[in-house]
Amino acid sequence: MEKSLELRSLGNTVLKLSCVGFGASPLGSVFGPVSDEEAIATVREAFRLGINFFDTSPYYGGTLSEKVLGKALKAVGVPRNEYIVSTKCGRYKEGFDFSAQRVTKSINESLERLQMEYVDIFQCHDIEFGSLDLIVNETIPALQKLKEAGKIRFIGITGLPLGIFSYVLDRVPPGTVDVILSYCHYGINDTTLEDLLPYLKSKGVGVISASPLAMGLLTESGPPDWHPASPELKAACRTAAAFCKKKGKDISKLAMQYSLCNKDISTILVGMKSVEQVQVNVAAATELAKGDKDAQTLAEVEEILKPVKNQTWPSCIQQI
Ligand code: NAD
Repeated sequence: MEKSLELRSLGNTVLKLSCVGFGASPLGSVFGPVSDEEAIATVREAFRLGINFFDTSPYYGGTLSEKVLGKALKAVGVPRNEYIVSTKCGRYKEGFDFSAQRVTKSINESLERLQMEYVDIFQCHDIEFGSLDLIVNETIPALQKLKEAGKIRFIGITGLPLGIFSYVLDRVPPGTVDVILSYCHYGINDTTLEDLLPYLKSKGVGVISASPLAMGLLTESGPPDWHPASPELKAACRTAAAFCKKKGKDISKLAMQYSLCNKDISTILVGMKSVEQVQVNVAAATELAKGDKDAQTLAEVEEILKPVKNQTWPSCIQQI
């Protein structure tokens, strides 16, 4: 299996992202420890199989994810213009700060940790925790200056409640925000991002959908202790995973394929920390491209998850 992943355009940007994107939060050891050797091997395998998009943040593992990703990308040695890196600003181990001063400093810190001269996408991280009006009036204009300075190529915003995206996009000049990153809203248990897609398309805004495995809910081994889902949602996902296992099926593969089907989403960002996870997730995409899809098990899992369909969890601060 070599370089077989579909590339998809990202909104009005010139970027073409592999449909499976590499979520680097696990490289910050947030889903269990990862050695530098494992991280390098995982990133190498990602390139070998056609992944060209890597996402991180200074928040993941308190800057560890950026450092380890930077080290791995350097060790693998692929030319910088052959891959796309996104990182974020405004959310740190110490708390949130979306001020112009902090995000301007933040890019320099991130570039140093990543050992690169620019990032392709710079995103305001989890904006529902800041003032959305500050994001519009202060943070985004600061990011535009970084764009002019050549430190970042495109600007994005991320977060959980879907209303934050239209709030900001309706208030900034067209073309200012290039990308949104939504998570846990386009997978088997939650498809609420779907309603927003026509609006984003009309604005030419690229869509990244993260956490197709619902941050571990749709895996055989289950979510980490910090997972914010309700006990009811966790239990339903556990039942669905056990059902798949009994049938000899992999719930994570089913979940990946479900998310990959919607081509209005440019990339499905999945967190990976091992060579095997890269291989399994890429295989899910390549098998899907050949028309190999398990409609029956999917229907059975959807039935199990029906009572918790579209159930999410609070992510403060509610402003809209
Ligand atoms: P995810 O749904 O991708 O799940 C990741 C977990 O599943 C990890 O424990 C990983 O080791 C495991 N996993 C991966 N492939 C597997 C497989 N085939 N079988 C079994 N387990 C598998 O959740 P995530 O990592 O939180 O999200 C993906 C990425 O998206 C993050 O790494 C991050 O880059 C990005 N993200 C961004 C935001 C934000 O900006 N607010 C929020 C969430 C995620």
